[in-house]
Amino acid sequence: MGSFGERVMRIFFPNRCVVCDRVIKPGPLTCETCSPKILTYPPGRKAVCEICGFKEKDCTCGKWRYYEKSVFPVYLEGDMRNSINAFKFRGRLDKTKPLSELMFRALTERDMLQNVDCITFVPMGVKQQKKRGYNQAKELAAALSARAGIPLEELLYKCQDTPSQHDQNAVRRQGNLLGVYEPIEEKIPLIENRSILLVDDIITTGATLNEAAKTLLIFGAKTVSVVAAAGRRRVHPKKKET
Ligand SMILES: [Zn+2]
Ligand SMILES: [Zn+2]
Repeated sequence: MGSFGERVMRIFFPNRCVVCDRVIKPGPLTCETCSPKILTYPPGRKAVCEICGFKEKDCTCGKWRYYEKSVFPVYLEGDMRNSINAFKFRGRLDKTKPLSELMFRALTERDMLQNVDCITFVPMGVKQQKKRGYNQAKELAAALSARAGIPLEELLYKCQDTPSQHDQNAVRRQGNLLGVYEPIEEKIPLIENRSILLVDDIITTGATLNEAAKTLLIFGAKTVSVVAAAGRRRVHPKKKET
């Protein structure tokens, strides 16, 4: 049952399913209903695209990308969308650790941590971050860095505040993002010739990540790979998937 302290902690901070947020018994990251929603990457099974991380029928590899591979543990749908919104917009930073653990597992299954020299994240605009109080991508990157034992480096900054991208279509998003990210000058030596893992909260079109990856490559990165807590499919299936 654990010590008295542990039992008290369980009452005040019970273990919750990272997807649906329901209280579950200590230990697992997801409840039994949600665990099939986690994308798995067993070698030899081609259910998930090895490059973009989406299921093969949702593959987004059509256009050329600056990053080599991307991976995420679960689709941003249903309960997971609520969960990520709570983490992103409502200060639920207790989700950082379980989300980063899911990301760590997806990366490990894909063997994507082998040659990574450092972990970095997509920066937020100064104003936006001040308003929110934190950058959720940085929180995930820091937790992932601790979990994987790979150094975290803040390498990029966002040099202009673009209009909110919530309601814009993919084409406009691409246009808005050109030249948005710059390296922090004194960090440039940490980019050169390194294999960098770039972290964001959500992958949608990959446009944001692509711009950040492009900046890293322009400033000499050897390779850039990408991880997010969730991936948003462009076309949502009518039927609920298991
Ligand atoms: Zn659940
Ligand atoms: Zn693909």
